[in-house]
Amino acid sequence: EKKIRRIDSAKDKSRAREKDSERLKVEENVFDVPTLKILYTLSNKGVIKAMGGAISTGKEANVFYAEGPDKELAVKIYRIASSTFKAMDAYIMKDPRFTNIRKNKRDIIFAWTRKELQNLKRAKNAGVRVPEPILTEKNILIMEFMGENEAPYPLLKNTHLENEEAKNIFDIIVEYMRLLYKKANLVHADLSEYNILIDPNNLTPIFIDMGQSVTLEHPNAREFLYRDVQNILRFFSRYGIKDKPEELFKKIQAE
Ligand code: ATP
Ligand code: MN
Repeated sequence: EKKIRRIDSAKDKSRAREKDSERLKVEENVFDVPTLKILYTLSNKGVIKAMGGAISTGKEANVFYAEGPDKELAVKIYRIASSTFKAMDAYIMKDPRFTNIRKNKRDIIFAWTRKELQNLKRAKNAGVRVPEPILTEKNILIMEFMGENEAPYPLLKNTHLENEEAKNIFDIIVEYMRLLYKKANLVHADLSEYNILIDPNNLTPIFIDMGQSVTLEHPNAREFLYRDVQNILRFFSRYGIKDKPEELFKKIQAE
């Protein structure tokens, strides 16, 4: 009863925070009845102790802060009533891990959520720093919260860096791209300053948002890798990094 109230009050709080009516619609879509039921169940199982406020409201998913039994959590909730799921089709249907899912929206979203969990696991096992994946249930992914005092670490995009610090971060990002490719057999496929957090304690990168990451069997894997390389080089050019995209692209795939 108490737990349920806490979830409801989190819902009210995140609603109260958003005056904009467009955003309000987003909030209502997130906490639809089935999603609330899953949150209650996870709370009864002790996976979530209390829900906190919204960290982010994105196009396809919203991310919430939560308290776990022994650590802080990030709860990513994919919206079922989202209009942009046509794009998900192209990523997931050509992934050999997900060839036999049914082609309705809910099933695609559930598969997408499981795919993000699996991708995070593979990345972590390959030595790439990512939020520790914990579990999925339907359209909800639970992972380690990367931040301090309930505030997420800043995005690379919002981090002020000296050239030397930027160069160090860039080198680690390239190494992570290589580990992903070589060890995890994955391409991030949406890598940019918007999907990399910076740990301010040691100025090192953390990759996030891996729902769209694909295995190397995906027919567009190399095209996605090239785009990731271009995004990263475009961002770091302001710090004097002038590597050629073709060369970096080759280096990541080299033995
Ligand atoms: P979509 O592309 O489906 O809309 P998204 O871009 O909204 O996804 P993410 O990039 O995974 O989703 O997360 C959105 C924001 O939430 C991030 O920019 C980051 O600030 C925050 N965030 C995500 N995961 C974590 C985490 N594990 N710990 C702390 N903050 C997180
Ligand atoms: Mn993102």
